[in-house]
Amino acid sequence: MKNKTILVTGGAGFIGSNFISYYLNENPNVNLVNLDNLTYAGDLSNLYEVENNSNYTFVKGDICDRGLIEQLFNKHQFDGVIHFAAESHVDNSITNPGAFIDTNITGTFNLIDVAKSYWMSAPFQFKKGKENNRFHHISTDEVYGSLGDTGLFKEDTPYAPNSPYSASKAASDFIVRSYFHTYGLNVVTTNCSNNYGPKQHNEKLIPTIIRKALSGENIPIYGDGKNIRDWLYVLDHCKGIALVFTQGKSGETYNIGGRNERNNLTIVDTICSILDNIKPANKSYKEQITFVKDRPGHDLRYAIDATKIENDLGWKADENFESGIRKTIDWYLKKYNS
Ligand code: NAD
Repeated sequence: MKNKTILVTGGAGFIGSNFISYYLNENPNVNLVNLDNLTYAGDLSNLYEVENNSNYTFVKGDICDRGLIEQLFNKHQFDGVIHFAAESHVDNSITNPGAFIDTNITGTFNLIDVAKSYWMSAPFQFKKGKENNRFHHISTDEVYGSLGDTGLFKEDTPYAPNSPYSASKAASDFIVRSYFHTYGLNVVTTNCSNNYGPKQHNEKLIPTIIRKALSGENIPIYGDGKNIRDWLYVLDHCKGIALVFTQGKSGETYNIGGRNERNNLTIVDTICSILDNIKPANKSYKEQITFVKDRPGHDLRYAIDATKIENDLGWKADENFESGIRKTIDWYLKKYNS
């Protein structure tokens, strides 16, 4: 029997690259084709662990290019798609929303529409041998909007996206949902909380804190630092994706989150304390913390209820924030010192 071949999009980015090395390691009989157009956020050096793996292929290209996607489906006869590619940084979506509409909405439509044409002959009719082919859409908890002091996002929380980023992801989630309800395509969607860990782009909060601390610059924190996010170590997200891709129920969405709510002040304080301990400077790194003008429309609090994936699929985060942040700091210390 031929090995399964899966199209992974956006695999040169933070989560996709962590996923590819995890998944190939766990599934030596699966071929992965990574389609990524290497925007500023994509970096092939994130894939050093797999670049010589014969089950791994890289293709540089844009998910908005329908002709290319069709060519790839023809050539590789994909058995599944795991769709990470996106514009992902909220701040960039405020200054340049157009790229988010193109990649996150049009790109997702292109991919799922081509998948439907290759796998299905009519609504609710799979072509022979394609019955188990699945489209997995990777999304975010930001589609649910902002929480007050209490409450958690559940899979049935109404969508209320507040930034061009989250609005574009919400739109893509609805496109995927509609392909299940209208055509019977085998889809799953995961909505995850904030990830952290190795290989995240320099622009994001945790790499910025570590980098600025080490270089002696001001460490910028938005507003009063009270915004709360539910932080999940990236490998725990990858394990959740693999579970949902292989065992999730078609048409369902699963929230993934670590039950590790922290406000930005706690994050910066924790990182500075660890750095004070393992790489002491002549004064505490905390003295570099500087409050800067808040992001417009900054959501106050996100927090995930992960009961469904825990109960239905047996997922559980292996790292808590304290263990995950130590691993993360060790990784960035090596990166920034080399
Ligand atoms: P990232 O920005 O690090 O990586 C995105 C990747 O997509 C990059 O390699 C980029 O080159 C590629 N890409 C962008 N536009 C493309 C296009 N038009 N065609 C092909 N490739 C393109 O993002 P990430 O943090 O790894 O996030 C991956 C996915 O997970 C996204 O869909 C994001 O919405 C979702 N997500 C992220 C988080 C998080 O905390 N980072 C949390 C929940 C969900």
